[in-house]
Amino acid sequence: MEKERSAPWSPAVSVVVPCYNEEESLPIFARELARVTEQLMELDTPPRLIELILVDDGSKDRTLEVIHDLAARDDLPYQVRWTSFSRNFGKEPALYAGLEATRGDFVATMDADMQDPPSLLPQMYADLLTGQWDSIATRRVDRVGEPPVRSAFARLFYRIINRISDADIVDGARDFRLMTRPVVDAVLAMGERNRFTKGIYGWVGFRTKWLPYENVDRAAGETKWSFLKLAVYALDGVAAFSTTPLAIASVLGVLFCLLALVLTVVVVVRAILFGDPVAGWPSLMTAILLVGGAQLLCLGVIGQYLAKTYVETKHRPIYLAREQGEGPLPRGRKNVRP
Ligand code: UDP
Ligand code: MG
Repeated sequence: MEKERSAPWSPAVSVVVPCYNEEESLPIFARELARVTEQLMELDTPPRLIELILVDDGSKDRTLEVIHDLAARDDLPYQVRWTSFSRNFGKEPALYAGLEATRGDFVATMDADMQDPPSLLPQMYADLLTGQWDSIATRRVDRVGEPPVRSAFARLFYRIINRISDADIVDGARDFRLMTRPVVDAVLAMGERNRFTKGIYGWVGFRTKWLPYENVDRAAGETKWSFLKLAVYALDGVAAFSTTPLAIASVLGVLFCLLALVLTVVVVVRAILFGDPVAGWPSLMTAILLVGGAQLLCLGVIGQYLAKTYVETKHRPIYLAREQGEGPLPRGRKNVRP
């Protein structure tokens, strides 16, 4: 048996990649990760093993076959392990399943489309090894190549949510991170179904180093996010990490009550002083419509939270796996945890 290295320690690294219809990107990613793995192995304190955890999120193309092919290879410098979902559950459940499967001391999460460049990994690894941080996170410095309307809404969203939530949610933060085991365990301990990853990372805290980098285009395939999907995701994020909208609803209620009180006094006084000329039904209509609208809005807000609570109380599993497996260990490596 090989003895433990004398160097401080040699962590095993897990790389989690959610994949939904990534048959074109995945081979490119796998090749690039192989190149980066060789680089990592040359470092003074190389990782003792790298495992790539692929989560097939119910892809409709050949993604799973590509994964099988990768797992069947014995020439890769990392081990391939995979989980395939019974259907498309979404990126957040895929990330959760991937994190659950990890055995490494350091865990990276990244996209399959090369928008999270694997070439950043050696630097992130070196930073984490210093022990100064618990997590190395990335954020984009610009939103080049994004429709301006989308950028404007994104900025507005971050401004608002940071005001009304106690989780620190960073604008432009990507889901590309390298973190230590305690951070992974903390994220996994948050077993909520409505998973807003950016908020979860902000909420768990830990010492995080932010690494800015330029936005890159997808290597192949298409983004799965439409504007509508992003908008719904943003609202989910607000509901998951802030109850301020509920408070706003109550404040709005109080304001309308006060307004009604003042108006009553005005109407009564006017009737006493000037008699009651039957007039003003347009203003009456306006008031009714306004108050009615505010009531519906507040009911809607309450309904949103009720719906979230309903989903959480059902305690359904976050994902369902159809199959799981793992490929051979790279030559000369032994398992992290049997
Ligand atoms: N993804 C997933 N399930 C989904 C949608 C996306 O696992 O339902 C994965 C996708 O394969 C990719 C990552 O999540 O690895 C990011 O997706 P995408 O590139 O479409 O998002 P964007 O980078 O445009 O935000
Ligand atoms: Mg992408």
